[in-house]
Amino acid sequence: MKRILVTGGGGFLGSFLCESLLNRGDEVICLDNFFTGDKRNIYHLLDEPRFELLRHDITVPLRLEVDEIYNLACPASPIHYQRDPVQTVRTCVHGAINMLELAKTLGVKILQASTSEVYGDPSVHPQPESYWGNVNPIGERACYDEGKRCAETLFTSYRRQWDMPVKIVRIFNTYGPRMHPHDGRVVSNFILQALKGENITVCGDGNQTRSFCYRDDLIDALMRMMATSSEVTGPVNLGNPVEFTMRELAELVIELTGSKSKIVYIKLPDDDPRQRKPDIGEARRLLGWEPTTPLRDGLKKTIAYFDELLKSNAEYCQ
Ligand code: NAD
Ligand code: UDP
Repeated sequence: MKRILVTGGGGFLGSFLCESLLNRGDEVICLDNFFTGDKRNIYHLLDEPRFELLRHDITVPLRLEVDEIYNLACPASPIHYQRDPVQTVRTCVHGAINMLELAKTLGVKILQASTSEVYGDPSVHPQPESYWGNVNPIGERACYDEGKRCAETLFTSYRRQWDMPVKIVRIFNTYGPRMHPHDGRVVSNFILQALKGENITVCGDGNQTRSFCYRDDLIDALMRMMATSSEVTGPVNLGNPVEFTMRELAELVIELTGSKSKIVYIKLPDDDPRQRKPDIGEARRLLGWEPTTPLRDGLKKTIAYFDELLKSNAEYCQ
């Protein structure tokens, strides 16, 4: 049994990672400042003796005894990370330094949840890890994109300077039950709009693409990455390489919900990437991993989750 620290453990992905580690038999310390996380995500874990909740902000140093660290703490959706851009940079940069210092003191593995946003609006398609990206350093998304890029620099610098067992994964758009109903991300927005019979808001002409990975596939990959030997540093792309336009996604959500909602077209946000699709050759080679959940199946489960949430707590979804 290992004792594992999950920063951002109160969030969408972090809470499911905590649960998966507990199911495997590990002890879990879930750290979160609840900036975007929600205690509802982890209520059901609080009675588990191997689970501990720590309210803490990773921009502040901390000392703990753990065997592994997953660093997921960071707001992930554009409306959340742009709400307090300076704090987003702090979380990415100061937070990474604090967690790396902790890992260095303890001599333990540490995994960084990086992002496909490090590729910005990519000019190479699909994106391999060797592509350096196309990021606007002063745009509205920069606090997140450049923050995460700097965190990758810190992780690789700690590796070079102190030979630390660091691991970097670049996560592409991931969805599933427990997404925050107000995070403005496309999957949760479209599903809630469809279930409420509201217009489905497609940004721009809807021809921009994303590749959507189901939560369970992603968490499996995170745990496989942590289990690799210390030679495997990454970065490794994690995502589902099947690409959809936002218009196709809207049509699929309407079909699966049986909704009467109409598609409307609204302004495309600044610096919105046109195309995004991971090259997952490295994940296949190093982790023996590829996603197994087709979008249609993952959407059905996510729709069932939001349908239940709307019925039990409609106010929360307003
Ligand atoms: P989320 O917002 O649901 O979870 C992030 C968690 O971090 C929240 O619980 C939040 O309260 C916490 N947090 C934020 N700042 C903190 C701080 N300073 N100290 C302590 N806790 C803090 O987002 P998510 O989708 O679960 O994303 C988890 C991680 O995965 C993030 O690092 C994100 O950048 C990365 N990621 C996610 C996606 C995706 O599609 N979901 C894609 C790429 C990368
Ligand atoms: N999007 C959309 N309608 C929405 C929310 C988002 O068409 O209500 C688009 C958005 O412009 C982007 C894509 O969906 O092109 C994915 O957006 P999201 O915020 O989920 O993720 P990211 O842009 O970070 O990949």
